[in-house]
Amino acid sequence: MDPAALLETLVGIPSVSGAEAALAGHVEGLLRAEGFPVQRQGDNVWFELGPGDPAARRLLLASHLDTVPPCAGWSSDAQTPRWAGDRLFGLGANDAKGCVAALILAARTLRAQAAELGACAVFAFTSGEEVGGKGIQQLLPALGRLDAAVVGEPTGLTVCTAQRGMLILRCTARGAAAHVAHAHLGENAVHKAARDISRIDAMRFEPHLLLGESRAQVTVVSGGLAKNQVPDACEFFIDIRSTPNLDHAAITAQIRAELESDVEVFSDRYRPVATPATEAVVQAALAAAGTKGGTGSSTTSDWAYLAHLPAVKAGPGDTFRSHRPDEWLALAELRAGAAFYTKLVQTYALLARQENHHG
Ligand SMILES: [Zn+2]
Repeated sequence: MDPAALLETLVGIPSVSGAEAALAGHVEGLLRAEGFPVQRQGDNVWFELGPGDPAARRLLLASHLDTVPPCAGWSSDAQTPRWAGDRLFGLGANDAKGCVAALILAARTLRAQAAELGACAVFAFTSGEEVGGKGIQQLLPALGRLDAAVVGEPTGLTVCTAQRGMLILRCTARGAAAHVAHAHLGENAVHKAARDISRIDAMRFEPHLLLGESRAQVTVVSGGLAKNQVPDACEFFIDIRSTPNLDHAAITAQIRAELESDVEVFSDRYRPVATPATEAVVQAALAAAGTKGGTGSSTTSDWAYLAHLPAVKAGPGDTFRSHRPDEWLALAELRAGAAFYTKLVQTYALLARQENHHG
């Protein structure tokens, strides 16, 4: 199957999060037909290529099969692939079926060299990335020891070595209810929340070298029961897209110390991550991309669940085309992505072999 047909087939099988079975089945069948030792767990599909040496370094290359639901505003049916010149339009073409296709194409090229590779490449295509990363979390124990990871997401083949996390805090301002006519008998919780919201707006955090500043944002506020009652409670949520230099516990402590409201952690499973430039996976990815330095990425991904590994995020496509109408990927991008992943694995394997010799 040529690259264009592969991408078109993947995009043509709908796989909104929670309904990935058909696509997972197709990818499993396609890889099996090509002779890859494919395994399946739930709607996750994976296989490995390598020298068969249990001591070899193991590099995970993962991307996701699922897409967000189609949004409004598409020029044609989102789930029907449509070519316009070099571009394939369709839901998931960019995020992240282009990465999945590029990884499959790279695996095909690498297969002939697998026995001589200095490392083992573990390819994984997972479900549920867009709704909390359930697939990768379920699959990780089955993948065995891993030494590094590449997360396939559309980055225009720039190498992201740092990714923002997400911390959500639920705050409750408490007061005392009273008739508005006797306001002195009550304590207005909405006024208390408003003071806290001003404090949050003014709060500054230490910027990160690649990712820049984090700004805490109040996103949802609810309080008050009746127009003639001093409200006794007001709840608001704070969303902070954290950077790796800021620990979630430290941010929470800082906010708790500055606010009058009660502060509780609502969600902190998306940890901010960063990988030092000295790691082999970073060097291999930079060499494959032909660039010197890594970049930062503001969007979360399954990388958050691989925080224990040196990892990078990179793949064909453009993050600004994701989750939007008329999402597309160019065939030239797909081909460049396949070449990028191939060279990345080869360089990583070479570095792993050299390190083994020196170590
Ligand atoms: Zn994605």
